[in-house]
Amino acid sequence: QFDVLVVGGGPAGASAAIYSARKGLNTGIVADRFGGQVADTLAIENFISIKATEGPKLVAQLEEHVKEYDVDVMHNQRAVALSYKNGYEITLENGAVLSTKSLVLATGARWREMNVAGEQQYRGHGVAYCPHCDGPLFKGKPVAVIGGGNSGIEAAIDLANIVEHVTVLEFADTLRADEVLIRKAKSLKNITIIKNAQTTEVLGDGKKVTGLSYTDRISGENKQLNLAGIFVQIGLIPNTEWLKDSNVELSQFGEIIIDAKGATSLAGVYAAGDATTTPFKQIIIAMGSGATASLGAFDYLIRQIPS
Ligand code: FAD
Repeated sequence: QFDVLVVGGGPAGASAAIYSARKGLNTGIVADRFGGQVADTLAIENFISIKATEGPKLVAQLEEHVKEYDVDVMHNQRAVALSYKNGYEITLENGAVLSTKSLVLATGARWREMNVAGEQQYRGHGVAYCPHCDGPLFKGKPVAVIGGGNSGIEAAIDLANIVEHVTVLEFADTLRADEVLIRKAKSLKNITIIKNAQTTEVLGDGKKVTGLSYTDRISGENKQLNLAGIFVQIGLIPNTEWLKDSNVELSQFGEIIIDAKGATSLAGVYAAGDATTTPFKQIIIAMGSGATASLGAFDYLIRQIPS
């Protein structure tokens, strides 16, 4: 039986595992794909103290750091259920069951994609999902934001400070963002908002994005925009479907609800990173929350009476 079992091998999980192992706890980490979203990232310029790095390089360093400690790393293993029987039990897709006194859930999230031609081809070459991360790459250039919800309009306001021009494309006939954000966006001269717009294709020159095509859902007309970047802001989906039948409380968006110590609704079960209600989703934040969750789990374990 583990003292702490970490589910997820992104920055939150790696950090949690290291913090637990450094407490002398019997620690395991089970990950579908070690590195998580970081493995899909090209340039990383906001991981403070490292001026610039690349996702795969940071993933290798994360793994190297975890392996410095006595952590049982289980790669390519997917957790499918969480239950309780003389300790918490995590069932893996292959049928194996791991038993642990406490848990850190750090299964991350995934960006909802547009699922249009060109999106995958130009992902990281103009198609972006994170304005905090990639906004500066488009300094002085025209970009589009897909989605007129809060994240889309926030992204547009943020990008308007950096880029030449932002076109927001919203599928519906109304924006779903808060009124105050909509008013702010409308006050900025370099933001244009187009409603009833269905993006149909990401256009490129074979190397990078050059624009997009969309259909005006009212007139049925096909239109094109010339762009250097496209920020897709149509939702971040937490990887928590596997927790639906557990008693871990989730928010209406499926995020694991945590408190300041990373504690969930179940005693001894902690969570960290993009899978949780943490409002901002970044590598440095995920790592910090992994440390918090692990220290929370430690706090819990030292209060348990030995059986
Ligand atoms: P994730 O990185 O999502 O890792 C989740 C882990 O859980 C993975 O190991 C996954 O395989 C595993 N997992 C999921 N489900 C299961 C399961 N059922 N069983 C077992 N394992 C499971 N942030 C920045 O700070 N700077 C950037 O420049 C930046 N650029 C980005 C670019 C892109 C393209 C993307 C997608 C994200 C970017 N981000 C960036 C955001 C950043 O990557 C995330 O905030 C961060 O990775 C979240 O860490 P995490 O550990 O919570 O989750």
